[in-house]
Amino acid sequence: MLANLKPQAPDKILALIGEFKADTRQGKIDLGVGVYKDANGHTPIMRAVHEAEKRILASETTKSYSALAGEPDFQSAMAGLVLGAGHKPELTAALATVGGTGAIRQALELARMANPDLRVFVSDPTWPNHVSIMNFMGLPVQHYRYFDNDTRGVDFEGLKADISAAKKGDVVLLHGCCHNPTGANLTLEQWAEVADILEKTGAMPLIDLAYQGFGDGLEADAAGTRLIASRIPEMLIAASCSKNFGIYRERTGCLLAQCGDATTRDLTQGAMAFLNRQTYSFPPFHGAKIVATVLNTPELRADWEAELEAVRSGMLRLREQLARELSSLAGSDRFGFIAEHRGMFSRLGATPEQVKRIKEEFAIYMVGDSRLNIAGLNDTTVPILARAIIEAGV
Ligand code: PMP
Repeated sequence: MLANLKPQAPDKILALIGEFKADTRQGKIDLGVGVYKDANGHTPIMRAVHEAEKRILASETTKSYSALAGEPDFQSAMAGLVLGAGHKPELTAALATVGGTGAIRQALELARMANPDLRVFVSDPTWPNHVSIMNFMGLPVQHYRYFDNDTRGVDFEGLKADISAAKKGDVVLLHGCCHNPTGANLTLEQWAEVADILEKTGAMPLIDLAYQGFGDGLEADAAGTRLIASRIPEMLIAASCSKNFGIYRERTGCLLAQCGDATTRDLTQGAMAFLNRQTYSFPPFHGAKIVATVLNTPELRADWEAELEAVRSGMLRLREQLARELSSLAGSDRFGFIAEHRGMFSRLGATPEQVKRIKEEFAIYMVGDSRLNIAGLNDTTVPILARAIIEAGV
């Protein structure tokens, strides 16, 4: 029977990692995979995470099962982190999931349980796994315009026109901040216009929040999500703890559902726990416990916020440095968008041939759509990349 399986196309980014590893050239630069790296190319364990783990290890007395929807301390800490002071606990259902990916998958399953004819609107481009998961689930996908390749900013008129076609019973997936793969984001005024359209159409927003704290700061990065929460009664949020806590392999995420009334909230909470049960039963505990411990312990939280802020400002500094270097080499401001983008990624707008040339001639690896991971750079490699970009004719 298993011989009937069809070969699956390898994940492009994972394939790129393999290619990078096999490259024997000195000074090769990896700007591919979406993982934060410090100036030495290392993905560190954050100080507060390390300390929280020590405390958990010292106090934990059992490895028995925990709670199907996750521990209440994790759920409420995450709801507070994402929704801030506007959080309405009596209207919010929460689910611990297997990473942000698990939260997205459960969000889509939940929406389909509520409406079997669901369509999902996604940005073009988006994180490729969004579309891959939807295709695998057999969900109809509608792409909305997002990136303007001339300005390298958001094509907001295109976005508005396309999401206006959504109807009640559809889901509109939006990136909360630090859009992957482009780095181009909505302003708060634009979020308000998106809220107008969602109000008018009755479509339900699903916000993918995978990089809170990597863009303009913990609060600013949640501002769009919070604005939508204040305007639209029903919404889903898939939050990942992988990047902002640096706990990628612990697989920690949270699905939040804001509901229109308390009865619907209870119904939704029950459906969400059911979905965990059907998929993997109890969600992972350790990463969620780390997050709850950090967020609920004032001195650990303060230290985590400080370290995250250093990570964020370091990436911003590299962006500004790269934009400056390119502007002096190009003799124009046409790469100014790199300093405007936020988060770990920028889409350069290079052709696949230029991306290939940068890899082959300069041993600099970026994703084929010209997404580069800013965190893969340091003070030494910024000028090397800038030269390669100009010489490849971008
Ligand atoms: N959404 C986006 C936009 C992402 O970039 C990622 C991670 N690459 C995720 C969700 C999922 O993250 P996790 O590793 O927590 O599953």
